[in-house]
Amino acid sequence: MSDCSIIPSQLLAEHGIQAFFTTRKGGVSPPPYDSFNFAPDAEDDPEHIHTNLRRLVARTGLLAPPHQARQVHQCASIWCSGSGSLHNSEADILLSSVANTSVAVRTADCLPILLADPVAGIVAAVHAGWRGTAAGVVTAAIHEMVEHGGNTAHILASLGPCIGPCCFTIGEEAAIALASSVDGAHHHIQPHPLQADLVAINHLQLMASGITEQHIEHCSQCTACNPEHFFSYRRDGHHSGRQLAVVAIPSAT
Ligand SMILES: [Zn+2]
Repeated sequence: MSDCSIIPSQLLAEHGIQAFFTTRKGGVSPPPYDSFNFAPDAEDDPEHIHTNLRRLVARTGLLAPPHQARQVHQCASIWCSGSGSLHNSEADILLSSVANTSVAVRTADCLPILLADPVAGIVAAVHAGWRGTAAGVVTAAIHEMVEHGGNTAHILASLGPCIGPCCFTIGEEAAIALASSVDGAHHHIQPHPLQADLVAINHLQLMASGITEQHIEHCSQCTACNPEHFFSYRRDGHHSGRQLAVVAIPSAT
């Protein structure tokens, strides 16, 4: 089913949810956006991005392209339904409770988190860089799901590829903000040089929100260390492409 251009979430798939993380492989964008680029504001031809979206739909069995929003490293959310488009709204959390409506976030080093409550029928895509993590964006997403009928006992979380603690050197401001984002976060910030583990800190936030350990899955691949497989903003700067993390509830068959 899968090919090397797309990493499926095993955990969400086991519960009947479609959830995928793209890599940079398998698209049509030329260098430096080679090749599976989804950054709409890059100097890449929009036609390449449309073709990449069509390929994503064809390879994953989604019925339509995913909903996306303007990501601003905060905690605002939008609910989506129907066929997807690129919204002008600012949101780092996109949710849906409608079958076959897919929602997505774009990342190049930030952590993409896909959430699903398969019982309540709610999915969410979350964009968690250091600013979003410090602001508790995944905690806000869980609250939003619970407010709409989700249950933390049922919610599943898949944490996708992002910059690892091996490469994520941060400043004092980020270190202080991340350390105070959840109890125990300071254990995942190393001094000299200051380096943070975004996955571990978001894992703690999920646990603090009531998500069980068995319902959390990690991809554990560093975007900056793997130029062959991933775009990385830290490594490639403004000419970095973007991966996409997508989640949807398929219609019952
Ligand atoms: Zn690394």
